[in-house]
Amino acid sequence: MEYKAVRGVEDLIPPESLKFEKVVSTFKEVVERGGFKEVILPIFEEARLFTRSVGEATDIVQKEMYVFEDRGGRVIALRPEGTASAVRAYVERGVYAREPFTKWFYVGPMFRFERPQAGRKRQFFQAGAEVFGLSSPGIDAEVIKLAQDVLRRLKVEATLEVNSIGCKECRPEYRKALLVYLEKKLELLCKDCKERFSRNPLRVLDCKVEGCREVVKGAPKITDYLCRECREHYEKLKEYLKLLKVEFKENPLLVRGLDYYTKTVFEFKSDKLGAQSTVLAGGRYDYLVEELGGPKTPALGFAMGIDRVMLLVEEEREEREGVFVITRGEEAYRKGMEVVNLLREKGLKSEIDHRQGSFKAQMKAADRLLYRFALIIGEEELQNGFFSLKELSTGKQEKIESLKELLARL
Ligand SMILES: [Zn+2]
Ligand SMILES: [Zn+2]
Repeated sequence: MEYKAVRGVEDLIPPESLKFEKVVSTFKEVVERGGFKEVILPIFEEARLFTRSVGEATDIVQKEMYVFEDRGGRVIALRPEGTASAVRAYVERGVYAREPFTKWFYVGPMFRFERPQAGRKRQFFQAGAEVFGLSSPGIDAEVIKLAQDVLRRLKVEATLEVNSIGCKECRPEYRKALLVYLEKKLELLCKDCKERFSRNPLRVLDCKVEGCREVVKGAPKITDYLCRECREHYEKLKEYLKLLKVEFKENPLLVRGLDYYTKTVFEFKSDKLGAQSTVLAGGRYDYLVEELGGPKTPALGFAMGIDRVMLLVEEEREEREGVFVITRGEEAYRKGMEVVNLLREKGLKSEIDHRQGSFKAQMKAADRLLYRFALIIGEEELQNGFFSLKELSTGKQEKIESLKELLARL
């Protein structure tokens, strides 16, 4: 093959694209009910936006970002995630000055240079929701509940894990305690974690390597180090989740791979995807708006991995609908084109077989394309001024005397 899609980048052609559409429309319906409005954000930004927000020390910035210089000499990155752009837009457009709180959602492609595998692509799609200006743990619970609603509506089974990773007050204490503990076990950690030890020790907590998991079991728990404010926020969050009948598991090792999180973090995980188990994740990021130049603004959000969710969503059985017009001869073909046009004007799905092949071939196409009816215009029909309407699922055929009758019949 002379031309191929770039490694890790996949086309979605029908029926996968239909499944994609189903996932996206379900997401939109659910979050719109929660008062969220759509934002359309650029897919590339200045690279330093992500270095600043996602974090210099994260794997995303260190190893996975697509960075290039454009013709104007700017250092550009294809966005590896959506939150940074949302915050940048929120600050740049001065939204905070007009709205006491803001709820946004977005859908679109993200880019990370990772080893491609099932459900992990270099161009992948996320549907995300962000809330700005609210600090109550009630909104955390509500956002988590909406996330769960999206997955439930898609019949994706996933378990929810929550944790609190504290704030600027309490996290440094925990970090210190963790470093003291890890230092003694350093030789037991994997190569990546030895590196993380100095630049991002919290990430050791969610390493997937068996040896590291053993070490981590005995590590101090962040929840034992939370300051009063963080502890109360976390307790309230759990209370509100129970109020909303959201089942969850506390996981004190849950930290997420981005630097900007504070207090609440959560993940929905599926056991049907092997190691790639997280299908939706998010948390609070109370300092990010300020860090990107805005006023002090509490915020939180989540993002769903559409590609992974698609692996868990069952194929939609398409319903038969519409009218496929089958003709023989030029005069019938012309009549057929008029009929198709009329049906479309009336809001019905309709096509004509432009190949004008045998009746059999045309009928086969009508069936393959999942039309409900085939409308036959042959010599006999033309001569006597009627149509034959065949219902494809039953094979039942009836005589239709006029266009008016046809419209009434449909
Ligand atoms: Zn705290
Ligand atoms: Zn490790």
